[in-house]
Amino acid sequence: MNKPTLIFDTNIFLLGIEFNVIDGVIYTTPKVIEEVKHKRYTNKNRNIVNRIQVAIESKKLLIQTPSSRFFQEIETSSKTTGDYKTLSMVDKELIALALEFKESIKNDFILYTNDYSMQNLCSELNIPFSPLIRDGIKSRIIWEIYCPFCKEAKKVEEFGKECERCGTRLRRRRKNEIKLI
Ligand SMILES: [Zn+2]
Repeated sequence: MNKPTLIFDTNIFLLGIEFNVIDGVIYTTPKVIEEVKHKRYTNKNRNIVNRIQVAIESKKLLIQTPSSRFFQEIETSSKTTGDYKTLSMVDKELIALALEFKESIKNDFILYTNDYSMQNLCSELNIPFSPLIRDGIKSRIIWEIYCPFCKEAKKVEEFGKECERCGTRLRRRRKNEIKLI
């Protein structure tokens, strides 16, 4: 069986997903990536941008520009559903990619978006879609290596070794947590 094909909207990337835990190949468009990068002013989103870069390099995430020939159909459908005004160029590009996939690989993909207008339009255009709510690990614990006797922080590489000063075996403690959402 082929690996699942997924298409991600900007709001899905901003959840801070660990791409490695996802089964399948993720597609998105250049404008989505631009949009995520524009939101890089917070620490959390800088991490997301870095993670995206790694996923692109490992070919877990593929960026594809869709053909513009679907834009007319998207415009017509969004006027029918009443989503025309809320639809951005980013949204249109993503829907266009989905329509292209619909043509080439039939319905064997899912467009993930948490945007109601997008979901609405997907159902109008018979595009398989799903919202994505994170329920996995919501935070990452940062450990610190320390000597329980000297109470001194040590280098990560020294974990399991003995303290240079007192000979006590070094342990680790929770330093802080990074919230992913
Ligand atoms: Zn010590």
